[in-house]
Amino acid sequence: MSKTFTKKKWEGPKGNFIISPDLCKGCGLCLEKCPSQVIDWSREMGVYGTPIVEATRIERCTACRICALVCPDAAIDIEKMDAGEKGKDRKK
Ligand code: SF4
Ligand code: SF4
Repeated sequence: MSKTFTKKKWEGPKGNFIISPDLCKGCGLCLEKCPSQVIDWSREMGVYGTPIVEATRIERCTACRICALVCPDAAIDIEKMDAGEKGKDRKK
């Protein structure tokens, strides 16, 4: 038996939070490290049968990407919204 997992997305004013349930192992590191308490546990289970996370308070998200950086399984993507530069993502 195999289940298909689809990515889930929350859209916020500063950026979008995307989680891949087929990668998240429910370690809770992102939840612990988010400086803005955006992330919470979901009722949904991921590929490992553990709860995934969700961006419950997406309006607080600053798109700092700490959650994506600390995730050991690259299960989080952050799409940053830059004022007037939507879609572009340059690192300096
Ligand atoms: S990008 Fe930053 S503020 Fe947004 S959920 Fe991740 S750690 Fe929290
Ligand atoms: S750090 Fe990654 S693997 Fe751990 S709970 Fe968060 S999204 Fe899932």
